[in-house]
Amino acid sequence: MKLPLPTIDRMTATAPGPAPVSGPATRVSTETHCPYCALQCGMTVTASPGTRRLPEVAPRDFATNAGRLCQKGWTSAAVLAAPDRLLTPLVRPRPGAALAPADWDTALDTVAGRLREIAAEHGPDAVAVFGGGGLTNEKAYALGKFARVALGTSQIDYNGRFCMSSAAAAGIRAFGVDRGLPFPVGDLAEADAVLLVGANVAETMPPFLQHLQRASAGGGLMVVDPRHTATAEKATLHLAPTPGTDLALALGLLHVAVVDGYVDHGYVERRTRGLTDAWRLAARWWPERVERVTGVPVALQRATVRLLATAQRAYVLTGRGADQHSKGTDTVSAFINLALALGLPGRGGSGYGCLTGQGNGQGGREHGQKADQLPGYRRLDDPAARAHVAGVWGVEPDSLPGPGRAGYELLDALGTPDGPKALLVFASNPVVSAPRAAHVQERLAALDLLVVADVVPSETAALADVVLPVTQWAEEEGTLTDLDGRVIRRRRAVSPPPGPRTDLDVLHGLATRLGQPPARFPADARTVFEELRRASAGGPADYSGITWERLDAGEALHWPCPDVPAGAAPHRGTPRLFLTRFATDDGRARFVAVDHRPPAEEPDSRHPLYVTTGRVLAHYQSGAQTRRVPELLGAEPECFVEVHPDTAARAGLREGGRARVVGWRGTVVATVRLVPTMRPDTVFLPFHFPGAGRANLLTNPALDPVSRMPEFKVAVVRLEPMGPR
Ligand code: SF4
Repeated sequence: MKLPLPTIDRMTATAPGPAPVSGPATRVSTETHCPYCALQCGMTVTASPGTRRLPEVAPRDFATNAGRLCQKGWTSAAVLAAPDRLLTPLVRPRPGAALAPADWDTALDTVAGRLREIAAEHGPDAVAVFGGGGLTNEKAYALGKFARVALGTSQIDYNGRFCMSSAAAAGIRAFGVDRGLPFPVGDLAEADAVLLVGANVAETMPPFLQHLQRASAGGGLMVVDPRHTATAEKATLHLAPTPGTDLALALGLLHVAVVDGYVDHGYVERRTRGLTDAWRLAARWWPERVERVTGVPVALQRATVRLLATAQRAYVLTGRGADQHSKGTDTVSAFINLALALGLPGRGGSGYGCLTGQGNGQGGREHGQKADQLPGYRRLDDPAARAHVAGVWGVEPDSLPGPGRAGYELLDALGTPDGPKALLVFASNPVVSAPRAAHVQERLAALDLLVVADVVPSETAALADVVLPVTQWAEEEGTLTDLDGRVIRRRRAVSPPPGPRTDLDVLHGLATRLGQPPARFPADARTVFEELRRASAGGPADYSGITWERLDAGEALHWPCPDVPAGAAPHRGTPRLFLTRFATDDGRARFVAVDHRPPAEEPDSRHPLYVTTGRVLAHYQSGAQTRRVPELLGAEPECFVEVHPDTAARAGLREGGRARVVGWRGTVVATVRLVPTMRPDTVFLPFHFPGAGRANLLTNPALDPVSRMPEFKVAVVRLEPMGPR
């Protein structure tokens, strides 16, 4: 008998849930974390070993969620029993043939053999790897090591490039280090004022809202978003700039801060450099000009700065709405400049932070699956870093390849004369999630070999030559790092079904077939973590003092947490960074001089509307998991387009009808939702759906020059009515 799945009430609730189950002796409860977003809500999974019952999920009291879950968390056990779960490797016997079941040895021998052939013919960079921000720290670490040591390729990057790479780049150039929230998330609960830029947390991570309760109740919550989102609904001030103009708005807010006398000159003098140069550009963005460009009224600009500057405890937080532009790094820098001018970062009870999105969005960007990075958030082009990590790996520093292509550029090069001929994909679904998705799909189809390791047959797996079934969250051990830099334990709560192997096991199997010593690629998460600790020692993200035992004991350990000499008291981690100095050479934060520029494409007569994309409450990322949960799919079964009623009327659209959303790179088919709070010049598409509902058929691969982030948040389209379904 199957346990009933959570009801709709439980799905929509973010209120405290029932206490963890402590039922009959045959039931086993395990403390772990949600499989989805970076909040990594604490949950208890109660399994009934030996039965076919679906495990029960209940929230527990953890720092990020304080006993709450969103509907994705409540229903997460259903993914464990996805009806189309991959249980056996699949191999395409020849191009064009259907995927056929194979045993593990056949599948791994096939992959290793083809990789060897392709590398022998075209060189090691003909083999590429694409990872994911949902991988555990150990998997992200092992994947980077596998690429650089077992494959010898420089061609590795991951889908975090599409997530928060702009904020990471801006954080490094301002503070010298990138940790999303440089303070515990719970600190926000004491905030009097919070400026939330481009983050719809009411839908993406609902339990986070409790940390904003005080600011919201006290009239101090301000939201910057072109849409009147569920989060904006809770704000005292909603600033709704024209898509692609957030940078102009941030410059304008800095201008107001300076002209209206809100700059904390003592802080700027003591703790920063560069305000003069930043001001030289911001000086040109007086409020009336900002209103003309962004549409945000002058009075609203002034009120925002006043609220932020006069609050006792104030924070500026940025999300994907600031990140995902061809000028995302400069946009985030401009908001950091504002925070620095007001004296917020590195002051107890105030600060700047980036809200990371993916489950291991923080740890996934620290341990070497990025194109330019080695474990511990070290730079691949730093000779000392290469020497240290090569020593841990037992290889020569010179054998490590240099930085390779980033994110979209890697995908764009697949199957081209100079590009990779083979690609291994772990924990990513670029057919749905990459920009200019139809083009990326063509590039994947042009490969000589596509290998996908996944839990379910994703849209990318459907194109693969070899599909490797892997275990998922509640079936495996490991560590992740949540959005405030705290390292947490993922624990095995249920046995996986027969067939799937862990990603670490897959890498071990491939590496040994490629001639690596078996001990160099252990399949055990704890052993990999021990090695990761040593590899990260002395780096910006130093995990060396964080032990498996300390994590299991429930210690709250935020990196950096260096190891200490024998006999000394263990380091207690660093929950709050920057309190005395920033991680720059001279300890001072940097203002960065940035200026506004328009988005890569603007509306014209053929495409008169902006389209912006984002997430909705019921789904997560490409939807590969959440579209397999009946309650979530029932709540949001297909792609929709939010349109202002006047805009819809002009295009001949009605509520519930179907529309073609036509852009320069493709067309999306979506159901029309009339939303009176939408800007008349803008439509919104969620990016969770496959096929003709793929929002990323429209998105623009124009790249940020620093972070290489594509412009997901702004493209231009027209609307056309369609006939009945
Ligand atoms: Fe928490 Fe995010 Fe999971 Fe929702 S999806 S329960 S907010 S970790």
